[in-house]
Amino acid sequence: MCLLTAFCLFLSALSLRGCKKEETPSSSGKESGEARETGETGEKGEMGETAPALQEDIIGDVAVTKKDGLTYAEVDVYAMTTTMQLKAYGDRAPEAVQAAAEEIVRLDRLLSVGNPESEIGVINAEGEGKVSADTLAMLKKAGKVHERSGGALDISVYPMMELWGFTTEEYRVPSQEEIDSLLPLVDQDLMEIEEREEGALVRLAEGQGIDLGAVAKGFTSDRVAQIFRSYGLESGLIYLGGNVHCLGSKPGGADWRIGIQDPGNSAGIVGVLAVSGKAVITSGAYERYFKDEETGKTYHHILDPATGCPAETGISSVTIVSPDGTLADSLSTACFVMGLEKSVEYWREYGDDFEMIIMDDEGLIHLTEGLEKSFTSEGHKVKIIYR
Ligand code: ADP
Ligand code: MG
Repeated sequence: MCLLTAFCLFLSALSLRGCKKEETPSSSGKESGEARETGETGEKGEMGETAPALQEDIIGDVAVTKKDGLTYAEVDVYAMTTTMQLKAYGDRAPEAVQAAAEEIVRLDRLLSVGNPESEIGVINAEGEGKVSADTLAMLKKAGKVHERSGGALDISVYPMMELWGFTTEEYRVPSQEEIDSLLPLVDQDLMEIEEREEGALVRLAEGQGIDLGAVAKGFTSDRVAQIFRSYGLESGLIYLGGNVHCLGSKPGGADWRIGIQDPGNSAGIVGVLAVSGKAVITSGAYERYFKDEETGKTYHHILDPATGCPAETGISSVTIVSPDGTLADSLSTACFVMGLEKSVEYWREYGDDFEMIIMDDEGLIHLTEGLEKSFTSEGHKVKIIYR
C-alpha cells in the first residue's frame, strides 16, 4: 500500500472511530462503537487493529489553533499497530507534538516484534542482542511486575501468542500438546540480562521469544509526557490506542474527564474518571479476540503464562491509574491475568503509586479507595476496595 493511501485510510479510520476515551462523558465511547466491527474476528474496527502487520508508521500534519487563550496543537500518529493522538497546550505545543510523534516512531522501530531489525526483532531471531537504555528500562520494570505478580506478566509469552495466531491474525485454537510443548519456554526468568558498561546484553533460552506489547505503550506515554514538559508545557492529553495519559490538568486547572470504556458494549462507557497528571491504562478481553467457528467460543489476546491460554479470571477489564505509565501498562495486563482477589492483594502490598478500576463479568465495578471521589459510574454498581 502506498504511503499516501495508507495515510488516507488512517485518517478516515480516525475520523470514523473517535477515541475510545474522551475528555467528556457526552462524547466518549459513542462514536467509537458505531465505527467498530463486531464480526467473526473481534479486533476493533479501526485500522490500528485490523491491518497492522505491514503498516508503516505515519505521522500526520500538526494542526495548530487557539483554545482557552493558549496555543493548542494536535497530531495523529499511526504506530505500534494502533492509532494515536497527541494534544497539547502552550506556546511551544506545535514543536512538542512533532518531537513527541517522532520519538514514538523511533521507539516503535526499537521495539517492534514484526521488524527483524528492531532490538526485540534481533533478540528473537538470534537468541541474543544488545539493548538500549530505553529497552532495558522496560525490561527491568516488566521484570519487577513479573516477580511481584507471581509471573502473571511474562514478556516471554510471545511464542504462545504466535501459536494462537495473534501475531499474524491467522487465528486458531491450538491443541493441548502444542501448548504443553511451548509452555516451559514461557518463563522470563530463563532470560538473562547482562548489564555492561557498553550497554546491556539480553540472552534468551533456546526457543524463547519476547514481546514488550504489554508495556511499550505505557513507556511511550511517559516519554511523550516528558517531552511535553521539556517544551515547557503543563497541559496535554496523550491517547495511545485506547490508553490515555494526562499531562497536568486542563488549561485553567480543572481535571481531565476520561471515559472508561464498557468492555461489554463498545458503544458505551462504564463511568468517567476526573484526573490530572496520570496515565489511565486499560486491558480488556474486548481489545483483540477471535471466535472459534466450530464452538462459538471467543479467545482474547491476554494469555495466562501458567496455562498458555487466554486468561479467564472472571473479570472483563482492568484500568490502572498511575503517574507512572509504564507501571500502569504492565499492571493492567498483570492484573487482568491475576483476577480480582490477587490484584487487590497486589494493590494492598505495593499500591502506593497506583489505583485500579476492575470490572467483573457480572458488571460490578471494583474501585480502589483512592478513586472513590474521582470516579462517577454510569449505571453500574460500584464496590469500594479499602486498604
Ligand atoms: P493492549 O496493548 O492490547 O492495550 P495489554 O497492555 O494488556 O493490551 O497488552 C497485551 C499484549 O501483551 C498482547 O497483545 C501480547 O503481545 C502481550 N501479552 C499477552 N499476554 C501477556 C502476558 N501474560 N504477559 C505479558 N505480555 C502479554
Ligand atoms: Mg498492558
